[in-house]
Amino acid sequence: MNAIILSIGDELVLGQTLDTNSAWLSQQLAGIGCDVAAHRTVADDRAAIAEAIREEAARCDVLLISGGLGPTDDDLTREALADVLGQPLTLRSEWVDELQRFFTRLGRTMPERNKVQAMLPEQADLIWNNNGTAPGIRVKWSGVRREEDSSASQASRLNPQPCMIFAVPGVPKEMKPMFADAIKPWLSDRSGGAVILQKTLHTFGVGESTIAERLGELMKRGRNPSVGTTVSHGVVSLRVNARFESPARAHEEMEQTVKACRTVLGDLIYGEDGDSLSQRVAELLTASGKTVATAESCTGGLLAGSLTDLAGSSRFFRYGWVVYSDEAKHKLLDVSQATLAAHGTVSEQVVRELADHARRVAGADYAVAISGIAGPGGGSQQKPVGTVWFAMSYDGGTAAQRFLFSGDREMIRDRSVKMALTMLRYHLLGKRFPF
Ligand code: AMP
Ligand code: MG
Repeated sequence: MNAIILSIGDELVLGQTLDTNSAWLSQQLAGIGCDVAAHRTVADDRAAIAEAIREEAARCDVLLISGGLGPTDDDLTREALADVLGQPLTLRSEWVDELQRFFTRLGRTMPERNKVQAMLPEQADLIWNNNGTAPGIRVKWSGVRREEDSSASQASRLNPQPCMIFAVPGVPKEMKPMFADAIKPWLSDRSGGAVILQKTLHTFGVGESTIAERLGELMKRGRNPSVGTTVSHGVVSLRVNARFESPARAHEEMEQTVKACRTVLGDLIYGEDGDSLSQRVAELLTASGKTVATAESCTGGLLAGSLTDLAGSSRFFRYGWVVYSDEAKHKLLDVSQATLAAHGTVSEQVVRELADHARRVAGADYAVAISGIAGPGGGSQQKPVGTVWFAMSYDGGTAAQRFLFSGDREMIRDRSVKMALTMLRYHLLGKRFPF
């Protein structure tokens, strides 16, 4: 079974409202094994909505339409649907009664124009709405071909099966319960227990193409479970989707594929689904009873911020310094003026001194220091924008490393925080830092 989601609204097309309904519906549909072939968004325009319904219903089993069911003149889904079906809109007295009860409860009389919400295409079933004034609509579209669709290539695109069309209100608080209560069970009954399980694995430190190269056959198109990658803020995520006829089989196959990905990528994978890098580090610190301090220059406290974002961070976070100027580095963390003069603020020697002093003053098990050039100005041939030095002081030594990040100021600062966390993470895992 496959579905297409059609969202209606000027506010969506204009980019004023984010189309969260389609994302939510796609996730719900995956849970019952229904593939989503496309999302389409159209404005509050009767002809455009009708055209979209006609085109999309012809190529899917289930068409889910959200929006355009309100009582005002720009709510045109009902009319457009009636146009496509060639059915008149008929008044549903049970919904007029419900609207009257609804307004009576509010101590108001029903505005006459709300009655339009009780007008549904003649052959359509009404889906009850417990959270608003617009009922949903369920109706079968039997794919009457239009004359202009008679060419062979067009005809072959047409779906021989009728398409089931559902129209739901755009308001998420009304759409979600209506889908969950009335539509999902209906679709579940017809999906024969199939599911699409989804899992995401997160990595940081290497690029998407390197990940793809290492995964090799695991990423082959057409494989089930499928493995795809996406990148967001330097994090390369593996998206694993398992489409199977039963949940048990899907779980088993998912587990095997995730295991195979982990075997190939090892500790590059820091977490799953909602996990964050700082949360993983926090867990490792807490589990080992270790504490940490930070001394930051170019990241201005972002590393300390990401570590203290988490509840319970007082168990492992000791001190955080923002030593932005040379003066601060010298006065607060005792970096010698000779070092600063000889090597410059962004240098191995400076981050080493920062980390060592920070660890000692804070009495922490670890101290991480960062000094770099976030840009856009301040770069030189020797130290271009994006040059960032890291040091980690621990019981037994101090490790320092230089990175050259690309991108703008925000990206360089973000990647710096993540790289510092990654350094710490590998150390806490007792593994060699691979970068
Ligand atoms: P409507 O059913 O067209 O009257 O939609 C009512 C309200 O629901 C709109 O004003 C939006 O704020 C919200 N809405 C409509 N469609 C979506 C959507 N696809 N995603 C998120 N919110 C939506
Ligand atoms: Mg609307």
